[in-house]
Amino acid sequence: MAATPKSAAASAGAQGRPDKEPFDIAVAFRRLRRATAGLPKAAMFELRDRGYGSPFEQLVAALVSARTRDETTVPACLRLFAVARTPAALAALDEDRLAALLRGVTFPEAKARDLKAIARRILEEHGGRVPDSAEALRRFRGVGPKIAALTLGVGFGRPAIAVDVHVHRVVNRWGYVAAPTPERTQAALEAVLPRRYWIEINERLVPFGKFVCTRERPRCSGCVLRPMCRQVGVAHPR
Ligand code: SF4
Repeated sequence: MAATPKSAAASAGAQGRPDKEPFDIAVAFRRLRRATAGLPKAAMFELRDRGYGSPFEQLVAALVSARTRDETTVPACLRLFAVARTPAALAALDEDRLAALLRGVTFPEAKARDLKAIARRILEEHGGRVPDSAEALRRFRGVGPKIAALTLGVGFGRPAIAVDVHVHRVVNRWGYVAAPTPERTQAALEAVLPRRYWIEINERLVPFGKFVCTRERPRCSGCVLRPMCRQVGVAHPR
């Protein structure tokens, strides 16, 4: 069940943490913007800021990024977008050529096959336009909640919360929500997070989770959120 910001703050005392400030999400985001300003951006946002922010480009990039590091995703997408930025252009690409453009990412052949199939379906079933609902997007092979949310949020600019492992881990450590899986965390966040942060939370927490609130031994001692973070489940901070 999700803890509201208020209940999370109120629960601090019950958890024996009277030393903590109330959790204020607006303050948290202001601190996160400063803390992540000099860090490498998450792949989708890096591509958006380089001019590849259309719904189709974001959908493609999110699929390419599955189980692939951002450092590999970005150059692979730049190679692909140099020759195909639309459903029609991608559908026309030879599948072997497409797989070659995706070299370095995980499962390039399978992703090439799926991307071509999605491009064709967008042309045949959606008039060449990426559908703008999570339900329609998730009917495409390989598209789960996170990819649908990135496409809607970053591509269309619609409020959508993309929860990956970093977002899931960090908001649960804060004590802002208490959810066992990324899917449940997404639902919990939708209940408590103000909509103005729905797109931005992924942009901030991916680099923050990679470099500060790391999976093993998070860097709590220098963390700007430490005064309000409940550090739930953190046993061995740095
Ligand atoms: S204080 Fe520690 S657990 Fe909390 S956000 Fe910072 S690094 Fe993560």
